[in-house]
Amino acid sequence: MLKVDVDRTQCQNFGQCVLEAPNVFVLNAKDEMEYTPVVDDSELENVEAAIDVCPMQAISLVSGR
Ligand code: SF4
Repeated sequence: MLKVDVDRTQCQNFGQCVLEAPNVFVLNAKDEMEYTPVVDDSELENVEAAIDVCPMQAISLVSGR
């Protein structure tokens, strides 16, 4: 399993991560980003893509593979 962490002090709810990894990151009804902190290894590429596109560099992978 992968552990995903988002620094809420950095996140500006831009939502780019949602486009890259929709199974992990979603925008709720208030347009606030919510995420699943523990996801299956199969999401690794998507999470890495989300890390790359996040303009605030708020996403990190706590443990991988
Ligand atoms: S891309 Fe980054 S700043 Fe935007 S919602 Fe996702 S974590 Fe937050």
